[in-house]
Amino acid sequence: MDLISIIVPCYNEQESLPLFYAEMNRVMEQMKDTAAFELMLVDDGSTDGTLAEMRALAAKDARVRYVSFSRNFGKEGALYAGLQKARGDYIAVMDADLQDPPAMVPQMYQILKTTDYDCVATRRRNRHGEPPVRSFLARCFYGIFNRMSQVRMKEATRDFRLMRRRVLDAILAMQEYNRFSKGIFAWVGFKIKWLEFENVERVAGKTKWSLGALLRYSMEAFLSFTTLPLLFPLVLGGALCLFFAVLLIVLLVTAACGNPLAWYWILIDALAFFAGLQLICLGVFGAYFSKMYMEIKHRPIYILKEESDEKEDR
Ligand code: UDP
Ligand code: MG
Repeated sequence: MDLISIIVPCYNEQESLPLFYAEMNRVMEQMKDTAAFELMLVDDGSTDGTLAEMRALAAKDARVRYVSFSRNFGKEGALYAGLQKARGDYIAVMDADLQDPPAMVPQMYQILKTTDYDCVATRRRNRHGEPPVRSFLARCFYGIFNRMSQVRMKEATRDFRLMRRRVLDAILAMQEYNRFSKGIFAWVGFKIKWLEFENVERVAGKTKWSLGALLRYSMEAFLSFTTLPLLFPLVLGGALCLFFAVLLIVLLVTAACGNPLAWYWILIDALAFFAGLQLICLGVFGAYFSKMYMEIKHRPIYILKEESDEKEDR
């Protein structure tokens, strides 16, 4: 029988966690003849009773495992720890606040069992109940990101997904320290089936995302997945140099024709030309730096999906 790992990052979720467990338990009971489960709870340094709640759940239910951080490291860290610890053949990632409906898990598992998709991921159908400013900023973010980066991210995606073991292995092969999971999920590729669902409010507690936190998060996305800004001085410097070089020729001709004022403009033009030259030098530095930056991330050069001499098909 397949083992399904459910990874749940939790930060101050003492009220949500029992509700999540009750809901998840219903799904696990419903599927008990088709698959075995483990709940991998990650306590991200909660300051409330979350850890006590996890201990209690683990004591009464052998399917529950947990790890607890020494302090709050952020959702990305919690997700990574959960992925590392998961033992399942199929691995799901979901929030503790029931914004990711456990009731979708059987359908997701069914899809992976009966088709050759590697991952079933989810998107919110709409952004109802969200401040319009936030929706607008989100749309801008996805628009700019997809233009600048080599990976394509769909709008309104959630981290909630069920994947095959090989997708998890690929995600863990991304050893980078600054982890932006939405980008990593997109980067590793594989065949993804998208399901849409209505946005639901969290059952208890409050969201950890302030506008400032969201801005930092989008900054992280750009810094992790595009080095294009480092080449910006190269483009700007190149354009400036070209413009002022042409202008210089025009001014020299004017000076040769006997216009004494032209020498004054030639001096200014030369200064602007050298400013452009300095930008180009900065851009050259940026070009090498961007290569170095990608090099130290040690991302895999390729990720295999299948090969003829594979021993077992997972
Ligand atoms: N979370 C976490 N560490 C943090 C912040 C959040 O583990 O520093 C967890 C949180 O407990 C929840 C999930 O990440 O299970 C998503 O957080 P939240 O519901 O606040 O985000 P939203 O659903 O509003 O995007
Ligand atoms: Mg949530």
